Amino acid sequence: MAHQVETLALGSPSLGTERTLTVHRFGHRGARPKAYLHAALHAAELPGIVVLEHLLGRLEAADAEGRIAGEIVVVPFANPIGLAQQIMMESQGRYDLATGRNYNRGFPNLTDAVAERVTGKLGDDAQANVATVRQAMGQALEALAAAREPEVLKRELLRLSHDADIVLDLHSAWEALLHLFVTDVNWPHAEDLTRQMRAEVVLIDRGNTMMTFKSAHALVWRALAERFADVPIPPGAMAAVVELRGQRDVDDYLTRPDADNLYRFLQRRGVIAGDPGPLPEALTEPRAIRGLKRLMAPAGGIVVYHRDLGDHVMADEAFCHVIDPQTRRRTAVIAPQSGLLYARRSHRFARAGQYICAIASDTPFQAASPPIERS
Ligand SMILES: [Zn+2]
Repeated sequence: MAHQVETLALGSPSLGTERTLTVHRFGHRGARPKAYLHAALHAAELPGIVVLEHLLGRLEAADAEGRIAGEIVVVPFANPIGLAQQIMMESQGRYDLATGRNYNRGFPNLTDAVAERVTGKLGDDAQANVATVRQAMGQALEALAAAREPEVLKRELLRLSHDADIVLDLHSAWEALLHLFVTDVNWPHAEDLTRQMRAEVVLIDRGNTMMTFKSAHALVWRALAERFADVPIPPGAMAAVVELRGQRDVDDYLTRPDADNLYRFLQRRGVIAGDPGPLPEALTEPRAIRGLKRLMAPAGGIVVYHRDLGDHVMADEAFCHVIDPQTRRRTAVIAPQSGLLYARRSHRFARAGQYICAIASDTPFQAASPPIERS
């Protein structure tokens, strides 16, 4: 099936306005594996939009040559509501201005609705169970009422992605190394993704019960596997957050290789025909999310770093100071642990208690129990 572009209306939240989602589809509906990719759910995080723009060009060429083997759905900008939010020339795409809610929280937890629908329909065949659960997810989403525009958006994003084998949520930090978040149900299944993307930091989490987009995919599979423990239910989706450096890192020299790496990953997973070449060596060991420390400013003032992004800092090191020009006091920011300074807020003025940077500890991730393998 040739490349198709759809426009999904999000309904009219206010008189005389309506926003739309643009959806690119490649391959035959229902073909496997299915990959879903979107960018800028936090709408000011622009690099993913550019990466997907490069990727779309490559997918169009692959489509013309008949090399799309599975199904691919691409939503280049996943949050047109947030993209339209500006205050005095500054984009405000992380939180819904109407409610203050983070756009990447509050996705529906479909576990109960799916469990109700699959009770009595699961058996010994793991792949058949995955198909049954996916179908029930689709039915649950059809039945899901949504009135507010961000809720409609979340439902539509899940309708496009809930049955995908691969779900990639492209974000960016303010200033950061390229890093990934993967839920433990999908580790080490996602290792090839982290290596292909040349990730400098890989953080393994347990999922977020506030229901991020990734967790809406990862947690439902874990919850169903626990609830129906007598039958095999492997994770039907490998979901990952790919943090494409900092919000300003949109230039082609960075984003084009990222798109090439996504393309090779889709080849490696059999979504696109062709040789992806050798899998690059890992740049880093995976780290447990509990070793991630987000640091807050100990005082208000100007944040002055003595270490660059990507530097290794030592525990108890004063790697940064906050300068108060009124008292002329310099307050040290002390590293609570040794690790990699991998993300920083780009504003250098901080209020006391405000997030300023993050350090990923050197302690590697170790699975508490044998990881769940995709069968
Ligand atoms: Zn984000």
